[in-house]
Amino acid sequence: EAADCQLHIFLFPFTAYGHMIPIIDMAKLFAARGVKTTLLLTPHNATMFSKSVERERSLFGLDIHIQILGLPFKEAGLPEGIENIDDIRSPDMLPSHFLAIQSLQEPLEQLLEKHRPDFIVADMFLTFATEAAAKYGIPRFVFHGTGFFPQCIEETLVSRKTHELGITSDREIFVVPDLPDNIEMTRLQLSDHLRGSDAFMTEAWEHIRDSEKKSYGILVNSFYELEPAYAMHYKNVLGKRAWSIGPVSLRNRNNIDKAERAAKKTSTDEHILVNWLDSKDPRSVLYICFGSMYSRLSKAQWHEIALGLEDSGTSFIWVLRNIKQEEEESPLPEGFEDRMAAGKRGLIIKEWAPQVLILDHPAVGGFMTHCGWNSRLEGVSAGVPMVTWPMSAEQFYNENLITKVLKIGIQVGVEKWNPWTRDLEDVSVEKEKVSKAVSRLMGDGEEAKNMRTRVKELSDMAKEAVEEGGSSYENLTALIQEFKMLKQKPSNVVGN
Ligand code: UDP
Repeated sequence: EAADCQLHIFLFPFTAYGHMIPIIDMAKLFAARGVKTTLLLTPHNATMFSKSVERERSLFGLDIHIQILGLPFKEAGLPEGIENIDDIRSPDMLPSHFLAIQSLQEPLEQLLEKHRPDFIVADMFLTFATEAAAKYGIPRFVFHGTGFFPQCIEETLVSRKTHELGITSDREIFVVPDLPDNIEMTRLQLSDHLRGSDAFMTEAWEHIRDSEKKSYGILVNSFYELEPAYAMHYKNVLGKRAWSIGPVSLRNRNNIDKAERAAKKTSTDEHILVNWLDSKDPRSVLYICFGSMYSRLSKAQWHEIALGLEDSGTSFIWVLRNIKQEEEESPLPEGFEDRMAAGKRGLIIKEWAPQVLILDHPAVGGFMTHCGWNSRLEGVSAGVPMVTWPMSAEQFYNENLITKVLKIGIQVGVEKWNPWTRDLEDVSVEKEKVSKAVSRLMGDGEEAKNMRTRVKELSDMAKEAVEEGGSSYENLTALIQEFKMLKQKPSNVVGN
C-alpha cells in the first residue's frame, strides 16, 4: 500500500488506571495493524507506560509514540501527601482531577494542528476533545472504559429518570425498562449522577453525553459474543455508532514480559508469586482484588472479609494495597497474616498486583471482584468465575451481567452504591456472607460446575474474537478500512 495511506491516530486516555490500561493496549493493537499511533499521556503516567511502549517499538517494530501533556499541578489543589494529580489512588480524587484535565484543551489543539492525525480516540471524560478535534476537522471517537451492557442501562436510565418509573423508595426493586432481559435494580445501586445527588457530577455527565453526541463513534472494549443482545440494542435501538474491538488485554497474553509488567507498577516478586501458585491444585485459589481505586475498605469490613475467608477454608491471594504505608496497625484480625502464611493458605499482596498473570494461572479458580469493567473482562478472558462485590460507578450494572445474564458469578450481597467506603467504619457484608459465597463458588456443587463450563466457553469465544476472522479483529479491520477510504476520498465516508 502507498505510504501516504498510512493512518495516524491519537489516543488520549483519562488518567485513571481502569481507563489508561485498555487505551494503552488499544494503541498497541492499532499499531500492530500498521497504524501510526501516538499516545497522549500526562507526565507521571508517561513514566509508567514508557518502557512498555518503547519495548513494542524495539521488539515488534511498532510505530507507536508518546506525547507528554503537562497538568497544572499546583492549581489543582492536591490532597495531602499526593504529589501528582495524575496518580489517582482513590475515587475522591476524581473531581479535582476532572477539573484539572480540562486545562489540556489548548495543548491538545497545538498537537492536532501540528500532526493532523486521521482520527482521535479520547476518553469520555475528556469532553473538550470533541471541540478541539472539530476545529481541525478531525473525527473524534469516544472510549467509555465499559461495555455494551452497562452503557445500555445507563442510557436507558438517563432517558427515563427513576422518578418517572414510579419508584417511591430507595430499596424498591425495579426493572430497567426496554432492555433485552429483565434487569432488576434498586435506586440505592444507581450512581450519584443518576439520583441527582451530586450536582457537580450531574453537570459533568451532561457535558459527557453532549460531547459524545457530537463525536464520530464509540470504541468498546468488549466482544460481540459476550453481550450480543446488548451490542445490537446499543447500535440498533439506541442508535449508537460503535465498534467492539476487545478484549484488548488479550493483546498482551503472548507478548507480556517483565518489562511490561514493571511498567505497570508491579513490585511484588513475581517469582515467589508464581511458585506459590504452582504449588496449588488447579482451580483451588480465590483471587481477591477490588481494582485500582477501591482497595481501601473500612477496617471493620477488612476484618469481616478476613474472617470469612478463613472460615471458607479456601486458599487465596488478596490484594490489599496501601495498608503498609498508611495504617499504623494492621487492619486485619490479630494473627491472621501469620496463620495464613504458615499454612501457605493465603498470600497477601500489598502492592500493585500482576492481575492478568494471576488470573491466567491454572491454580486460580475464582475471582472476588468489585466488577470494574476491565477486571470483569479479564476474568472472562481467563475463564474464571466470580464473586461480585460492586462498590460504585457502573459496577452494579456489571454485577447483573455477571450473575443474572451470563450466570458466571455469585453475588456476595452488597446493597448500595458506596464509593467512599474508606472513611466508614460500617460493614456492608458480614463474614458469613463472604464465606458462603466463596464456598459456593469454589465448591463442587452443580451451580459452580455450570458456571465454570459457561465461563470457559466465553473465554474461548474471547480468544476467537481477537484472532483473524473473529468479530473484534474484523471490526478493527473495517474501522481501519473506513479511515483509509476517508483519507483517500473524504466524501466516501458517512457520519460526522
Ligand atoms: N489492576 C492490576 N493490579 C492491581 C489492581 C488493578 O493489574 O493491583 C488492573 C486490572 O487488571 C485492571 C485495572 O487495573 O486492568 C482496573 O480496572 P477496572 O476497570 O477493573 O477497575 P477500576 O480500577 O477502574 O475501578
